Amino acid sequence: MKQSMSDTMRALQLTGPGTLELREVPVPPIGPDDLLLRVGAAGICHSDLHVLEIPFRLREDPLTLGHEIAGTVERIGERVTGRAVGDRGVVYLCWSCGVCRECVRGNENVCLAAGRAAMPPCPGLGPDGGMAEYIRIPATAFVPIGDLDFAQAAPLADAALTSYHAIDGARDQLRPGATAVVIGVGGLGHVAVQILAATTAARVIAVDVHEDKLALASAHGAAEGLLADAGTAAAILDRTGGRGAEAVFDFVGVDQTARLAVECVAPNGAYRMVGLGAGAPEITAAPAGGPGWPWGATVRKSYGGTKSDLIESVALARSGRLRVEVEVFALDDGREALDRLANGRIRGRAVLIP
Ligand code: NAD
Ligand code: ZN
Repeated sequence: MKQSMSDTMRALQLTGPGTLELREVPVPPIGPDDLLLRVGAAGICHSDLHVLEIPFRLREDPLTLGHEIAGTVERIGERVTGRAVGDRGVVYLCWSCGVCRECVRGNENVCLAAGRAAMPPCPGLGPDGGMAEYIRIPATAFVPIGDLDFAQAAPLADAALTSYHAIDGARDQLRPGATAVVIGVGGLGHVAVQILAATTAARVIAVDVHEDKLALASAHGAAEGLLADAGTAAAILDRTGGRGAEAVFDFVGVDQTARLAVECVAPNGAYRMVGLGAGAPEITAAPAGGPGWPWGATVRKSYGGTKSDLIESVALARSGRLRVEVEVFALDDGREALDRLANGRIRGRAVLIP
């Protein structure tokens, strides 16, 4: 039986491999350095679908999903300063150690405490996430959003943060006259198109398997959209005078898109792998640059972003130059929203409102 409004809450939880349940659970207690947020909105990322596909349990007990979270401060830990009940914010998702060499250099997304292959703790992937009425967060993860709408703000936590970081790491390539290719115009990709348009001089070519996603890219500033097929690399080489694209942002990351990136990246260009489709780009060391991989090109497996990337993404959204396309669902309809995302039927980002 529900004890009182403030003791329990509804949470969308992973209770076993591929099994989601909306459960009544205790409102989480907070420690001295934490905040309790009342969740205003929680975005659904394709990574949540990858998590549902993992054949083993991520955690022994049920795990509340959701790593794109915006909300209001409800309770404040006793050691926390500078925050007030009612403050509105978005949650920075890399809950990194804060003291290792990478963290102190501002590279919290590749915190060394996580080890070589892991990532820093992330809500919804280890600690409980935000597809619930409340979430406990470390106070350091709170980034103010002013009066930004919660449904707009939540996707900034990952869709914008991760895109912003990947683009920022290739800024040197994105000079006037450069071409940037965005592969996969979903939650991340349609935000990436906007960040490229707002913060770089590059001309954007979008690639997707669905025509409507290409229309979405055009609506947000892409110069051209190409359907992904056997002729896509040749089309990009054709549009760039044969040299290729100075930067390729791959928000799919399967073998097919990795091959496209290898075939169309320019000499000294940047290939940024963001999508987690387990694709393997074929990068070969050969005496001549050859058709396989051009001289000077770099590949980076890009994870999340830094806290300053999130602060800058919030600033872009508040200035009106970044507008996330959202489809809003009730928490009860989380499963339906995930199924629609799996079938490519979400335009932009799906957001749950608890
Ligand atoms: P999404 O489902 O919203 O968008 C994916 C898009 O890719 C869709 O528009 C789809 O039509 C398109 N697509 C699918 N197959 C394609 C192909 N072969 N060629 C071209 N386009 C294709 O997904 P999302 O939430 O934007 O996430 C994208 C990927 O990024 C996922 O793999 C997700 O797990 C990953 N991700 C990685 C990080 C990171 O830090 N590296 C962070 C967030 C998400
Ligand atoms: Zn994500």
